[in-house]
Amino acid sequence: MKLHLFNISDFKVDGGAMFGVIPKVLWSRAYPADDKNLINLALRSLIVETDGHVILVDTGWGNKQSEKFFRYAYLQGGEGLTEGLANRGYSPEDITDVFLTHLHADHCGGGLKRNEHGDGIKTTFPKAKYHVSRAQWECAVQNNIREEDSYPPENILPMKESGQLNLIEKEAELFSGFSFRMCYGHTPGLMIPVIKYGNKTIVYTGDLIPTLAHIPLIWNMSYDIESLKTIVEKEKILKEALENNYILVFQHDEKYECCTLAMTDKGIRAHERFAFESI
Ligand SMILES: [Zn+2]
Repeated sequence: MKLHLFNISDFKVDGGAMFGVIPKVLWSRAYPADDKNLINLALRSLIVETDGHVILVDTGWGNKQSEKFFRYAYLQGGEGLTEGLANRGYSPEDITDVFLTHLHADHCGGGLKRNEHGDGIKTTFPKAKYHVSRAQWECAVQNNIREEDSYPPENILPMKESGQLNLIEKEAELFSGFSFRMCYGHTPGLMIPVIKYGNKTIVYTGDLIPTLAHIPLIWNMSYDIESLKTIVEKEKILKEALENNYILVFQHDEKYECCTLAMTDKGIRAHERFAFESI
């Protein structure tokens, strides 16, 4: 198995929205905000090469939409999606599987792009299957006023029209050493990859634990549809990770890529923090 992690792009979100009910005096110590109350987030994608598959986990925002669409995303830095892949020796044609944790715009937008004439949308990875949970797919196509801005139809529907979509029903080992947990608190059918790498287990925590600062059980995003479910789901994976010394990998933390866990008098917290390369 080969693994790579790269940052597609940084972006910014409101710090209050990112930490829900936690007062700013507390969260801003753990994760500093700028003078507009914005915090900087990374957007890391994972490449997993195993058993003849080259799997890309999440695809970033993409660039299909207008400047207006991106005006509050403040995109900056990072390697870019196809550039980040190229820097590690992969072309878009090499990707056999795109695994989308969920369909919020910052996670799936890069999987589809405008065609050469600019009059249609096509898949960025022409030979890949696009894996999405059925629960998430149904949520995204039915849409709802609460998540409306997160599901622009041009990010979603062409995936099905391409014939490349694979809907996943339940938890499984999808590829050799690559399984995932199905979660419902952030959004229905959020899939969290759990990867066996030699004698180590890596959890790509996605939007379940977006940054190291989100390890405490009630430090959750106000984007979550059902906070109480997020708490239960986080507690389960954190306990398992603590007991088995799993490595957590953060998709959105601007500073920390990975950590292990330790039990403290306040509950489970980050222990060692380190770069993905050192795994
Ligand atoms: Zn999300």
